[in-house]
Amino acid sequence: MRYPDGMVNTYTFFAPPQIVFGWGQRSEAGRLAATLGRHAWLLSGSRTLERSGIVDALADSLLAAGVTAKRSSAPAHEPEVADVDDLVNDWRGRGAAMGDCVVAIGGGSTLDLAKAAAALVTNRQGNSVVDYLDGVGRGLTITEPPLPMLAIPTTAGTGTEATKNASISSYAPPFKISLRSDRMVPRMVLVDPELTVSVPRDITAYTGMDAITQLLESLLSKRAAPIPQALCRQGLQLAWPALPRAVQDGGDRPAREAMAHAALLSGMALANSGLGVAHGVAAALGVHCRTPHGLACAVMLPAALRVNRHVRQSELAELSALLLPRTYAAEEDRVAALIDAVESLCREVGIPSRLRDIGVRREQIADLVPSSHGSSLSGNPRDLSDDELRELLESMW
Ligand SMILES: [Zn+2]
Repeated sequence: MRYPDGMVNTYTFFAPPQIVFGWGQRSEAGRLAATLGRHAWLLSGSRTLERSGIVDALADSLLAAGVTAKRSSAPAHEPEVADVDDLVNDWRGRGAAMGDCVVAIGGGSTLDLAKAAAALVTNRQGNSVVDYLDGVGRGLTITEPPLPMLAIPTTAGTGTEATKNASISSYAPPFKISLRSDRMVPRMVLVDPELTVSVPRDITAYTGMDAITQLLESLLSKRAAPIPQALCRQGLQLAWPALPRAVQDGGDRPAREAMAHAALLSGMALANSGLGVAHGVAAALGVHCRTPHGLACAVMLPAALRVNRHVRQSELAELSALLLPRTYAAEEDRVAALIDAVESLCREVGIPSRLRDIGVRREQIADLVPSSHGSSLSGNPRDLSDDELRELLESMW
């Protein structure tokens, strides 16, 4: 955004080494995977993908390029500790070894599961993924390179194809913590927006709002930096008009392309800049109320902007001018218009505005507050005390 005196501070930036983007580009999967290994562990997520023949076509493309594939299916929920441990044991039991690669096709949950398994197959010091999770495990770290991965997202949302972490959930005890290592960034990302055409309307809305929340939170984060901010601005300019169209008509090709690209950018941005309070609370809502991640982010987004508006006024005012057709003379008015517009966007794509409307019980707020203090919250521009968080959640109930 604004760089006083043209100053650019110290930063580091990383991203997947190779990104292939384009409608129908999944036909390139075999050629790409062949550069990673001769044997692939192929993890696929959605039953729809399997039924539609897309996973078979992917396996054929691998075989045609000389890559043999052993297939596994991911469960239809965000990865839990046992899901990761089971998949790692399965792959190890079937002979997974250095020199193999992982090809994962699915939504954010499937890609997260694949990233965690690809890392743990080669890191054998622990008995469970828990041993590697901050704060709950034995403090083990990923020291060996994971199996190299080709990530093929089928939803436009989490951007996990471009990040270095995998979000792992547990319900007893309740936590949602990332397995994290710079080495976990997928080696190759293949984004084929045509794969998102069959995503149902509600999932399109949730995942798309996740991408928009990630773009906004990364852009405003305490750790915001020039390259991620540039990606965020481009992502928001594309996603802002495209999301309602993608929700309205799943076959709208330009809208699907814009959302797929924006989601990828959101992953690259958050991997470098972190997030904020919407994602902090979304993790807690996932664990305690089983709220889908994107829905939780979307419900929290207007409140997250309001909480930070005074410490990020100039950035929000600039965004307002970038995204909205009408601009206002006063900075404060521009910010107010932007927050109103985010609320309208949520309404337009079917996101409720109150926590009780997504199944949160009032007495659960006491549990949500401590569970919101993950790594996401640490990126929030303003430090929030437990009392402030509780007040915020009470006001949204
Ligand atoms: Zn997210």
